[in-house]
Amino acid sequence: MNKKIYVIAQHDGKGISPITHELLAFAGKVATLQSLCVELVLVGNTLFSLASDLADKGIVVNLLDVADDNRIYKQALGAFFGRHEFAWICTAHTAQGMDFSPGLAVKLAAAHVSGVKDVEAENGALNFLRAMENGKKLAWVSPLTQRVVLSIQPGAFKPQKLDISTEGALTVHHIKNLPVTAGDVSSDSCKAWKKIRFKGVKKTPSDMKGLSQASVVLAVGNGIGSQENLDIVYKLARLFHKCAVGGSRIVCDSGLLSHGRQVGITGAVVAPSLYMACGISGAFQHLAGMDQSEFVVSINRDPTAPMMNMADVCIVEDLNTFLPICLAILSGEKNGNGIE
Ligand code: FAD
Repeated sequence: MNKKIYVIAQHDGKGISPITHELLAFAGKVATLQSLCVELVLVGNTLFSLASDLADKGIVVNLLDVADDNRIYKQALGAFFGRHEFAWICTAHTAQGMDFSPGLAVKLAAAHVSGVKDVEAENGALNFLRAMENGKKLAWVSPLTQRVVLSIQPGAFKPQKLDISTEGALTVHHIKNLPVTAGDVSSDSCKAWKKIRFKGVKKTPSDMKGLSQASVVLAVGNGIGSQENLDIVYKLARLFHKCAVGGSRIVCDSGLLSHGRQVGITGAVVAPSLYMACGISGAFQHLAGMDQSEFVVSINRDPTAPMMNMADVCIVEDLNTFLPICLAILSGEKNGNGIE
């Protein structure tokens, strides 16, 4: 049986998300290095028309016809790959991918490499570049197993355009009778799973659509300091067309912003014309959600903050000073200090 490289698509039921095109680009690179075929796996129900559209665009698609949630992903993919030989499985290093990818590797007795940023060939084997210690270090790792599950860092690979001149295909797999508990996991190390019963998924309210469609994102971090400063940011937001306020995870965890406004690896992925980072240090989990922005302005009192390295304009200033002046200037107000 030919070994293959499989890409697990991320989708919203109507279309595949941009990260899936990045995964296809990565898979294409690996396929060229190792002469493998790339196939896409779509998990969910009522996805037939999406799957056949993709097949018409030159992709070999496997549709796993099951209910769509993260627990089902792990079980459905485990059932599928129990019957289909693979060399590599590529998932997205996003909130959803992180939820099922390591567990899938355990289930399939495969190695797992998370947050892959680059790949190189060395004597027929592949090495993968990944971040360590919260992005402070990068390491090359080489898996020692025949089968490997990878999660790919968003933004690391340029999205692949679909080539309609190649021949696609669609196979529908009906995955039935998935266990209600994780009782089918036989490894001793996973016995603890049997003590958990899955009760369902509840979605949290989210403003991610507004964020990802905004042309301007004003993003606040831990440095915002106070509700007063946040109010100024909201006033600034009203001065821009198609502007949304977002923030780092710390700000959302603190309750200053709702979790639906979080930007980053476990939040929204945005690519606005202007991203203004107010008091955000630039942890890689945050950068993964905004590093496709066209123009980045970073305001931070620390000139060595990592966000400054990727900003087009760096403003080294205290936000308590900067924000009122910025609002006064942009709204055309004159203030007592004679600013016009
Ligand atoms: P800090 O790191 O505390 O930085 C605050 C910055 O503000 C500093 O650079 C400081 O110099 C500056 N500052 C302070 N006061 C002022 C002032 N008065 N004026 C100007 N500048 C000032 N984070 C995300 O954002 N999104 C995610 O999706 C995400 N997912 C995660 C997933 C996992 C599994 C983990 C482990 C972490 C995740 N994080 C995420 C958290 C991430 O690692 C960082 O902790 C977080 O991004 C830091 O937020 P921050 O930059 O606002 O805060």
